Amino acid sequence: MSIPAIRLTSLRKSFGAVTAVDGVDLEIADGEFFSMLGPSGSGKTTVLRLIAGFETPTTGAIELGGVDVTRRPPYDRDVNTVFQDYALFPHMSVLDNVAYGLRVRRVPRRQRREQAQEALRSVRLDGFGDRRPGQLSGGQRQRVALARALVNRPKVLLLDEPLGALDLKLREEMQVELKQLQRQVGITFVFVTHDQDEALTMSDRVAVFSQGRIAQVGTPADIYERPASAFVAGFVGTSNLLSGAIAQTVLGDEGVFSVRPEKIRIDGPEAGPDEVSTKGRVAEVIYAGATIRLLVDLDGGVRLTVVQQNLADRPPHQDGMRGRPVRLTWHRAHVVTIPSEI
Ligand code: ATP
Repeated sequence: MSIPAIRLTSLRKSFGAVTAVDGVDLEIADGEFFSMLGPSGSGKTTVLRLIAGFETPTTGAIELGGVDVTRRPPYDRDVNTVFQDYALFPHMSVLDNVAYGLRVRRVPRRQRREQAQEALRSVRLDGFGDRRPGQLSGGQRQRVALARALVNRPKVLLLDEPLGALDLKLREEMQVELKQLQRQVGITFVFVTHDQDEALTMSDRVAVFSQGRIAQVGTPADIYERPASAFVAGFVGTSNLLSGAIAQTVLGDEGVFSVRPEKIRIDGPEAGPDEVSTKGRVAEVIYAGATIRLLVDLDGGVRLTVVQQNLADRPPHQDGMRGRPVRLTWHRAHVVTIPSEI
């Protein structure tokens, strides 16, 4: 196997009594788009800062391209970081902002300009070089921050919630752009986010963090379709957990199980031989445009979420649906067994 771009071994970081990172082992391949996903305070930013060299681990080791950099300062690591607030210099032109890293490395002026222009072109900001950051929109500023990092041609680009300040529409556009850009430049991207949609959409692989540890690492489909714990099932998407007596009744099995809301059918044809079926009552109907989300109370006291595509000519009358008895059916293949948490 080729040498990974990043290797973290037994990484641990404490701040006084707080253990921010609690034993992380991870390998990120060269050219991978890798996301670190997790709730606030789960340690993902600290891992990013450890890779960048802004923090020193309490114990453990960091390798970049097979070289141990654990004790090296940030400027001596072939990585660049894009921060959420972009950290652009307001008094400098866009071009000078982008060329800044090259100036620090004493690249000759002409070459600096050419490379900065090229980096601006790669983020589709041709012709914006003379403006000040204050004269740009949020999305454009974000792209300048990217160009400023890319111009240094780092082996690894670290991105700390870089789309966090953008509105939803722009955020979705930038997700697609960023992914295209990464494919084009072939640089390893390590992307920190607490937004599960973002992580699933953009990444080759995702690490889900919980309390300073990695709860699961895998492709977006692995994480979503085969969550390794109830925490992952609940954090990535909406999970319907069935356990105890209700699992016995509905599934005829003991343990903890999950079924995703979009896999459940409401009413319609009788359950087939490979399907399970149960009865419930609609507690709430949430209209969300493209989809309709129904909360259904089962007889055993469990509430399941069901998501339906909005295919109807006229959306269901919410008051009319509430309280209605329904039959829920899903395929056995969509029942995921959740391993008991260690
Ligand atoms: P967020 O999404 O909110 O940025 P995160 O998953 O990135 O969260 P971290 O910023 O890595 O989490 O923080 C992990 C834990 O370490 C938190 O409890 C945080 O309060 C603590 N922590 C982080 N940096 C420091 C610091 N410099 N001093 C003390 N505690 C810190």
